Amino acid sequence: MRAYNFSAGPAVLPESVLRQAAAEMLDWHGSGMSVMEMSHRGPEFVAIHAKAEADLRTLLAIPANYRVLFLQGGAIGENAIVPMNLARGFATASYVNTGEWSKKSIKEAGKYLKVAVAASAEDRSFSYVPPQSAWRVAPGSAYVHVCTNETIGGVEYHWTPDTGDVPLVADMSSHILSRAVDVAKYGVIYGGAQKNIGPAGLTIVIVRDDLLDRALPICPSAFHWQEQAAADSMLNTPPTYAIYVAGLVFEWLLAQGGVAAIERRNVAKAKLLYDYLDASAFYRNPVAPADRSRMNVPFRLRDESLDGAFLKGAEERGMLQLKGHRSVGGMRASIYNAMPVEGVQALVDYMREFERRHG
Ligand SMILES: *Cc1c(COP(=O)(O)O)cnc(C)c1O
Repeated sequence: MRAYNFSAGPAVLPESVLRQAAAEMLDWHGSGMSVMEMSHRGPEFVAIHAKAEADLRTLLAIPANYRVLFLQGGAIGENAIVPMNLARGFATASYVNTGEWSKKSIKEAGKYLKVAVAASAEDRSFSYVPPQSAWRVAPGSAYVHVCTNETIGGVEYHWTPDTGDVPLVADMSSHILSRAVDVAKYGVIYGGAQKNIGPAGLTIVIVRDDLLDRALPICPSAFHWQEQAAADSMLNTPPTYAIYVAGLVFEWLLAQGGVAAIERRNVAKAKLLYDYLDASAFYRNPVAPADRSRMNVPFRLRDESLDGAFLKGAEERGMLQLKGHRSVGGMRASIYNAMPVEGVQALVDYMREFERRHG
């Protein structure tokens, strides 16, 4: 029996996608091969790759002047790859610091250019998104970088920054495809697949055409967006199986009604959990209500000595991977697209039962 899996990543995938991948494992569409065994340049895989890109473009309504790249290296890789691709002719980039993932991006970018912190939420333990009126973008910035969903802190942008002529670069790893997004407001959107899309190993980069000629000469070819765009992301061997499974997830999302439909479900799922957290004195979530993540919901028990018992009881009831990130402790429920509302309801029912017994 499959459990309800609240992992922050790698994370739950739709059961129907896993079943289809299993059914096609040994012989994909009569080809006599697994997708894992195919040449990335053969007609079968080229078709899988093209369909995945087309479906992602449909789901996010990606304008024609943006390129979609399927790369490797993860979002942590992109922390270096972004400045290597955008810094030529610039000395500085501005970063907004909303938590652990922003901090990692800032540290890495500092190897390639001068980082100016345009705003930081560190003054209140990263429990909110600094409003744009408080941002100070450094003059001459190559770009402004944001992390639009802090997976560890559970803080999400519910608005789109406006950085004028300075390109906006966003790490959307943990909420891409969970909500509608106006791609045209961004210069670059990137994310690892293993949170809300598919298996680890695939990194998605969506980049506006005019930003493709700003790479530093040291930028490796495998991470050079212009070279990869010219080669249809096949300058090196792409993560073929991860692209295939991501493609199945895109088909699943389209069948669900697309991003608008999944967003409505995500709003309802998050409300179910936050409403219960707010009504209870036994649990608490530290994030400003207007900036709470719909995808990653960190919470603490009033009495932390009960953490172990809480997790053990959850596991016995088939609810897995609820332990909070090691840097913050407590609990975290990640409720990505593939988490059904029944899973969130089961968690709330268990939390209520646990509170009754221990409160
Ligand atoms: C998980 C995550 C990362 C790191 O991804 P890797 O694949 O480990 O490189 C970076 N940013 C955010 C927002 C994440 O959720």
